Amino acid sequence: MTSIATENKTTSESYWKDAQEMRESVEEWSDRIQVNVKQIQFRSMKRKWASISTSGRLTLNAGLLELPKEFGELAIVHELVHLLAPNHGKLFKCYMWAYLPDWEEREQRLRDFCE
Ligand SMILES: [Zn+2]
Repeated sequence: MTSIATENKTTSESYWKDAQEMRESVEEWSDRIQVNVKQIQFRSMKRKWASISTSGRLTLNAGLLELPKEFGELAIVHELVHLLAPNHGKLFKCYMWAYLPDWEEREQRLRDFCE
């Protein structure tokens, strides 16, 4: 017998098929947030999940491909919002709530996941 809890867990922990799928997700989010991403690259990074230059070059930690999608999405939206709000001030948070209402819960889950 499958419990509802188990089913929910499976849904929230779905993983990326490949890097291409994650690239497509970046395209979708950049359309939605209406920012211009010029380049997407994957790299192994020790200290952060992602970074973006003011000109729109997005670097994603290759390790995100091994984690549940919700964390990759969090990293993508976080970096794209930086094109609208460079620091983590009030404006940044407003955009995060607008585009990813559960971003704080995701950040918490990411921290728990990586412990
Ligand atoms: Zn940031």
